[in-house]
Amino acid sequence: MGDTRLKKVLIVGGGTAGWMSAAVLVHSLGRQYEVQLIESDEISTVGVGEATIPSIIRFNDLIGIDENEFMRRTQATFKLGIQFRNWGAQGDAYIHGFGSMGRKTGLVDFHHYWLKAFQAGRVDRLDDYSINLLACETNRFSRADPSNPNSPLADIRHAFHFDAGLYARYLRGYCEQRGVTRTEGRIDSVQVHPETGFVTSVTMANGDVHAADLFIDCSGFRGLLIEQTLRTGYDDWSHWLPCDSALAVPCESVEPLLPYTRATAHGAGWQWRIPLQHRIGNGHVFCSRFMSQDEATAILLGNLDGKALAEPRLIRFTTGKRKKFWHKNVVAIGLASGFIEPLESTSIHLIQQGIVRLVELFPSQGFLQADIDEYNQQSTTEFEQVRDFIVLHYHATQRRDTPFWEYCATMDVPDTLRRKIDLFRANGRFFRQNDELFNETSWVQVMFGQGIRPQGYHPLADNTADEPTWRMLDNVRTVMHRVVERMPTHAQYIAQHCKAA
Ligand code: FAD
Repeated sequence: MGDTRLKKVLIVGGGTAGWMSAAVLVHSLGRQYEVQLIESDEISTVGVGEATIPSIIRFNDLIGIDENEFMRRTQATFKLGIQFRNWGAQGDAYIHGFGSMGRKTGLVDFHHYWLKAFQAGRVDRLDDYSINLLACETNRFSRADPSNPNSPLADIRHAFHFDAGLYARYLRGYCEQRGVTRTEGRIDSVQVHPETGFVTSVTMANGDVHAADLFIDCSGFRGLLIEQTLRTGYDDWSHWLPCDSALAVPCESVEPLLPYTRATAHGAGWQWRIPLQHRIGNGHVFCSRFMSQDEATAILLGNLDGKALAEPRLIRFTTGKRKKFWHKNVVAIGLASGFIEPLESTSIHLIQQGIVRLVELFPSQGFLQADIDEYNQQSTTEFEQVRDFIVLHYHATQRRDTPFWEYCATMDVPDTLRRKIDLFRANGRFFRQNDELFNETSWVQVMFGQGIRPQGYHPLADNTADEPTWRMLDNVRTVMHRVVERMPTHAQYIAQHCKAA
């Protein structure tokens, strides 16, 4: 028998996916394997992935990145959540904050006590019971302080907004220092073994040939290996998520420096606003079936807070995922593996999950179909769970003011999402399945924020009499407000800890 041990990994693509993958591989596998990355200066990166969720902290910890240093190098700011404007109804606003809301008592989630008080007319704002939401509202920030687990300060959860171009450059430095070889140039053709169908090598425009045992396709939407070469197929989800275009444009910074992303719904899509230290990233995600590019551009430029710093750049996409994320000896990560619009900033998280999963199932002794199937199953579940959460934002709306919103409000949704909505609408219940990314706090905030009002609440919440319940809620609100008032502003915190030069 020949030697089936894996010796060399070749990553195709040097966008966020390529460099994040290289960083995890070189950190986890050390020098046991050769890692090469090919990127082309002629083919630019998407470069607009700028908002993240708290799981990125695990990524930074995994590869040993110092958070303040990373923030300085990428002009980053802190993110505590996302503000949604005009989603449930025009004129509405709510925040989906990271972290928790109140504390669970026995078997009953905090929000059931809140629902009981809401239905009794005693409370009307969820925001008073989450440290993240209150900090967003007042532009304040502190990192979590685990030294006092009883304080709401222990419950703060943060992520980052950063400049995607600077992030890729930062990770490139990290990887090259640790032995990743970078090759610049355009891949012209891909060679496949005539019997096994495995990819054997890639040939560059200058004629150089690079062979490897395992290929990671981070070539972006084109999917150079996974689709253009192996023809793996694509599950198109645009009937649930019909937006297919985005226009991106940076603008000048304005004060105050907000610690959250803003997502403002328009007539056929929505606009993001991502505050960085040196500029604001903006973009309009829209559906070309319901809105022209000219109209989308005018709406985007008409809703900037500062002066535009460039011409808007158009990006087209089809929401969905590859039928197989791992096929033969090719694993697709990043945009090559699929795309769900950035409404909840989940793409970078999915990159991180993809590469960590690959390390967990690393085929060091050769390729086993059981490993490949497991990888594909886990990745599919994860993509579908994120998809459902995004579809919720479009479907749960009272808006009927444009044909786009009429379509979203009345479309069929996946059964998995329908069940969640029905459960919540009845008694405010939510069950997190298979370790899914978004927990009950996220689902409750978004379902409530989008206007779904449960008819009841968990009956165990009635085991506590009314007066003690109202007192408990008053106490939580008072403590939350007191703690937030003592926090520095977001801008002050950055100036003190992680201001870019
Ligand atoms: P790309 O950035 O497209 O990189 C592809 C790489 O492949 C490039 O280096 C290119 O040179 C190389 N390449 C391609 N073909 C060849 C070839 N033939 N030869 C050599 N090299 C080649 N994610 C978030 O988490 N948060 C967000 O806020 C967010 N916002 C987004 C907004 C929009 C409009 C879009 C479209 C995406 C957004 N994303 C976001 C997703 C995020 O941008 C991507 O997940 C991330 O940038 C990863 O891209 P990538 O590395 O897979 O592909």
